[in-house]
Amino acid sequence: MIKIKAIDLRSDTVTLPTNEMRAAMASAPVGDDVYGEDPTVRELEKKAAALMGKESALFVPSGTMGNQIAVLVHTKRGEEVILDSEAHIYYYEAGGPALLAGVQLNPVKGLLTPQGPEILKETLKPEDIHFPKTSLVCLENTFNRGGGTVLAPATMEELYGICHRQDLKVHLDGARIFNAAISLNINVKELTCCCDSVMFCLSKGLSAPVGSLLAGTSEFIDAARKYRKILGGGMRQAGVLAAAGLIALQSVDRLKEDHANALRLATGLSSIPGISIDLQRVQTNIIVVKVEGKISASVLVDKLSVQHIKCATFGPGIIRMVTHKDVSSQDIDFVISTTKDLLN
Ligand SMILES: *Cc1c(COP(=O)(O)O)cnc(C)c1O
Repeated sequence: MIKIKAIDLRSDTVTLPTNEMRAAMASAPVGDDVYGEDPTVRELEKKAAALMGKESALFVPSGTMGNQIAVLVHTKRGEEVILDSEAHIYYYEAGGPALLAGVQLNPVKGLLTPQGPEILKETLKPEDIHFPKTSLVCLENTFNRGGGTVLAPATMEELYGICHRQDLKVHLDGARIFNAAISLNINVKELTCCCDSVMFCLSKGLSAPVGSLLAGTSEFIDAARKYRKILGGGMRQAGVLAAAGLIALQSVDRLKEDHANALRLATGLSSIPGISIDLQRVQTNIIVVKVEGKISASVLVDKLSVQHIKCATFGPGIIRMVTHKDVSSQDIDFVISTTKDLLN
């Protein structure tokens, strides 16, 4: 039987490591990273810090752990964290901030839009015995549940300014920060300068098998390293993973192809009756598809899966599709024509 390779549009996390990564993993110099003796991890952390324009960086097993550590370092129990009501840290991290840091999340609609600065000003409360102390604002760029939308550096700067005047820290969930920088055609530092700490993922569009980095001041990273150990994220010969990460960082420019494929997919699908896509919001590698025809979003997902096309619902009547290294432009054309046939 011939095994048919599925076209997997569920996420860019499904990307497989390249042969170059596997070769680098096999030959990586390694040591015990908990003792600070893994040269490959050290190299990756140094490189990541330089790329982000920060003093120091820490290799962590996942983006979620990086975000949770940032919340732990920047806050104390009982304090308040302001974030978007659709932010990954609020929506997809299983209540981690309540469980681990013991903080109260204040989810705000529209924080990650051009109106964000105005919304933030209205949200910030004066010092009062009744109110929790706000200590942290979390931003997200690109904004996953926003449809991979990009927050412009001017908006980030304004948000950062407001926070700093009030002595609030800013953590940037930059899981896909390179997608944002590529889309804006700017150096990633123009975005990361507007935060006290940033997390980015190697394991999404950059295609590494495992890992994320957290960057900030040396003091912040020292505290983060301790929390990483507490959470069980201290890894030993982690250079095997970091080696793939170093290769991943050379492929940042390739993300352009994912963005072009996303636009091609969105444009093609939006011409099909029963489907609507806000093309203005297709800014990176994520597209949000509204299904309003005779079949529901979940039925369409099932029918596509029979045709070896994988995607997932993203809310009622909504499907998310993500382009990445392992989806070609021919695959995109196949998805468009198959969807057309299914909806006819
Ligand atoms: C994927 C993602 C994360 C978490 O990364 P994991 O490695 O899956 O834990 C955090 N924030 C955003 C915006 C993401 O898309």
